[in-house]
Amino acid sequence: MTSSASARSGSFLGSLRSLTGLVRDLGRLAGALPVDWGAFVRRRPAPVEDDPETRELFRRAAEARLAGRVEEAAVLYRAVRARRPAHVGALRGLRDLAADAHRWPEALEAEQALVDLVPATERSEETGWLAAFHYEQGREDMTAGRLDPAIAHFRLGVRADRRFVPASLALGDALEMTGDTREAARVWERAAERDPSLPVLARLERAYRIEGRPTRMIALYEAAAARVPDDMALAVALGRVYFELEMLDEAADHFEKLEVRAPEFPVIHAFLGAIFERRGETREAFEEYRKALRLAQGFTWPHRCGHCSASTPTWEDRCPRCGRWNSLRPTSLPR
Ligand SMILES: [Zn+2]
Repeated sequence: MTSSASARSGSFLGSLRSLTGLVRDLGRLAGALPVDWGAFVRRRPAPVEDDPETRELFRRAAEARLAGRVEEAAVLYRAVRARRPAHVGALRGLRDLAADAHRWPEALEAEQALVDLVPATERSEETGWLAAFHYEQGREDMTAGRLDPAIAHFRLGVRADRRFVPASLALGDALEMTGDTREAARVWERAAERDPSLPVLARLERAYRIEGRPTRMIALYEAAAARVPDDMALAVALGRVYFELEMLDEAADHFEKLEVRAPEFPVIHAFLGAIFERRGETREAFEEYRKALRLAQGFTWPHRCGHCSASTPTWEDRCPRCGRWNSLRPTSLPR
C-alpha cells in the first residue's frame, strides 16, 4: 500500500466515522396512529350553541392573539371560559398562549381539560400535545436538578401518547441518572417494541454494550429490521452492528443485499469498503471507498414534518418551523 493510499484511507475512515455517526443520529418514527381510545369512550358532550356575547368575546380573543396582544387575548379567553367552562376554542387558545410562553403547568391544565372534552376524532392529536407538555415540564425539572418530578412527567408523557418518542428517550435517560439502568433499558425496550426508531435503538445498544451483551444487540436490530423491512436506516444500522462485532461475513452479505436495493447510497459502499479492508481485500476496498466518496457529495438524509412538511437534515424532537413535537419522519428513499 502506498503512503498516499493509506493517507487517503485514514482520512476516509474519519469520514466513515462521521457518516456512521450521522446514521446513528437519524431517528425514524413510524407513521401509524396511536389507538384512538376516545372512539371507545365517547365522552363528547352535547354541542352547545354559544350566545352572541360569548361568540363576540371569543372572536376578540382570537383577534388579539393574532395581533400579538397576548395578555389581552388571555383575559378574553378566560372571560369566554367564565361563561362556558367547556369551551374548546377558548381552552385551545389558553393552551397555545401558555405553550408559547413555556408556562407548562398552565398548558398541561388546559390540555388535560381538552383531552376530556374533544370528540374521538380529535383525541389523538390532543394526547400528543399532552405528551409534549409533560415532556417539556420534565425537561425543565431536569435542568433545575429536580430528578423525581422530571421522571414523573416523562412517565405521564409516555402514558399520554405511547408513540411519543422524546418522552421515552428522556425517561430512560433520567432513570439512568438515578442509577437504575435496568429500568431505563426496560423503558427503551418497550418503546422499541411499539416503534423501533433509531434514537431508541441507539440508547439500547449503548446499554447492552455496557452490560457486555452483544447478542442482545444483534437480536434487537434483527427484530427491528424484520418488523420494518423497508426502513433503510434500520437496515444500515443492523449491518453496522454486524461490522462492529467483527461478524464480517454477515456484514458483507447484508450490505451486498442492501447495495442491490440502494446502489446510490454512499454509507453502504463505505461499509463494504471497510469490510473488504478488514479482510485484507485492498483493491475491492478502495473501489467501494471511491464509490462512497463520489456518492457522498450529495449525502443527506432529510426528515420531513408530518404536520407542516418542513424539511430538516436529521431527526429532531420538535419541528423547527411549526414547533410540533414528534412530527419528523424520514423522507423515504428511492427504491
Ligand atoms: Zn412542522
